Formats: sequence, structure tokens, C-alpha cells
Amino acid sequence: MPLNPRIAAALLGTAAAFTLPNTAVADTNSGYLIHDMDREQAPVVTPGKEFEAPSDAIVLFDGTDLSAWRTEDGGTPKWKVENGYFEAVSGSDDIFTKEGFGDCQLHIEWASPADPAGKDGQNRGNSGVFFMEKYEIQVLDSHNNRTYADGHAGSVYAQYPPQVNATRPPGEWQRYDIIFHRPRFNEDGTVKQPARMTALLNGILVQDGVALTGPTSWLMQKPYEKHPDKMSIKLQDHDSPVRFRNIWIRPLSQPEHLKPIPMKKREHKVALSPAQLDRFVGSY
Ligand code: MG
Repeated sequence: MPLNPRIAAALLGTAAAFTLPNTAVADTNSGYLIHDMDREQAPVVTPGKEFEAPSDAIVLFDGTDLSAWRTEDGGTPKWKVENGYFEAVSGSDDIFTKEGFGDCQLHIEWASPADPAGKDGQNRGNSGVFFMEKYEIQVLDSHNNRTYADGHAGSVYAQYPPQVNATRPPGEWQRYDIIFHRPRFNEDGTVKQPARMTALLNGILVQDGVALTGPTSWLMQKPYEKHPDKMSIKLQDHDSPVRFRNIWIRPLSQPEHLKPIPMKKREHKVALSPAQLDRFVGSY
């Protein structure tokens, strides 16, 4: 098997002695050479402390105001802001991010009411995080609260129950970390790729790259309908004073260093002297 001369050079400590083009092993997935030092480096991102926003995130709520949010018709949301969180106000309707998003990583923390006030099932601490205004991951007080499996916290509503019930007791802060990939449509409106979701609830995997069947809906399986590539994140007013805090999002695109490049025709040969080759007995 041809030996990647970059590796050989590193092992021999004689990098300058080798000329590398046309002699290294191609990675057929990426189009780059294996261990290609010319491949673009991953961008540097500074992580936040604990669950604070990393350096490349868009902050959608920092505890102070709803300036990143609107009502459906573009007005100012009537949800209550206090003590570093905001809270759904019954009857004030859903709220939407002003900015649209497609593929993204979302962090959002939520708490259902500490006192369930005798409510149960879907009436207990219900809200929801809707990607593109259409695809809901359920927010619900699912602690000792029996309801239909595909309606618990962590469910892709009406489509996929969560893998486990990882909720904390009511009143405690819970956190979602969600990776969402928007659906892709063909020109004629048919689905090229369904939407996909991976979600962690309190750090525990609850959805693992599931393919959504279409927009989520109560009692219905709606078909996909072609829509823009970017749409708002929506939070649901479901007549429960559910609280939210620390919301940030990272729009996802395929970074340069992951993009395939056209494969060049390469000669698979290694220019090493017999003496050097003798040092490479075995597998690498
Ligand atoms: Mg809901």
C-alpha cells in the first residue's frame, strides 16, 4: 500500500527531504489527501462558560429584552420579561424571531410552572419550540405526567417520542440543545430531503437525527409544502406560563474545511530510497 509521504516525512523527521504532490494517498470522501496539511483548518470558536453562548452564536435572549422577537404580524410581543427570563402570557399568542434560520444549532432553556395547579397531560406546562415556524419539539412538564408518548417533552410533536424522559421536576430549569436541518425541496415542490432533528434534553440524547414526516400538528400528519430556506424560530403560547432564558443559535453551513474538492488525478507512488523504505516495515 502506498505510504503517505507526509507521514513518512513526519516519522523520519526529514520533511524537507520530500516533495509531496502526486505521491500521497487520497481520502476518497473529502478529495483531500489523508493528513493533508494544506486542508483548511477548522475555524476557532471560543466556548462560553457553562451554557453561555459561544463566540460565533447569535444571542436571541440575554435576559434583558425581547428585541430579537416579534409577534406573528410584526408587533411587540406581550410576553413578560423579568429576572433574566421571559414568560409566556396566556392569550398573547406565539412569538417569532425577527431573523430567519434554516440549518442551525439552538440552545434554549425553559421551565414549566413550579405549581402545576391541578393540570395534567398536555395542559401542564405546555409550550413548544418550532423550527421554521412549522417543526415543533415539544416543551411540556413531563415529570410524573402521563400523556401520549409523542407529546412529551423531547418529542418531535406527533411524530417521534423522545428516546428517554429526561425532564427535571416542574419549576426547575431544563435545557435543550438541538441541531436542526431544514428540508430541501425540488423545483417542483417535491421533497428532496426531509427535515432532520437531533436533540439533547438536559444533556441527554432524546432525538437522534430523525427525519420529519412534514410539519408537526395535533392529530394530523401534514405533508411538506415548499417554503423559504430561512424562517423564524417560533415559541408557542399554549396557555401555560412557561419560562425561557439563555437562548442562542448558530446558523449552520458547511464550513470550507469540510467541503469536498474535485479529486485531482494523482500518482500513487512514494519516492523513498531503499534504506528509508527498510525503516517502514509493517502497517501504517
Ligand atoms: Mg406544544
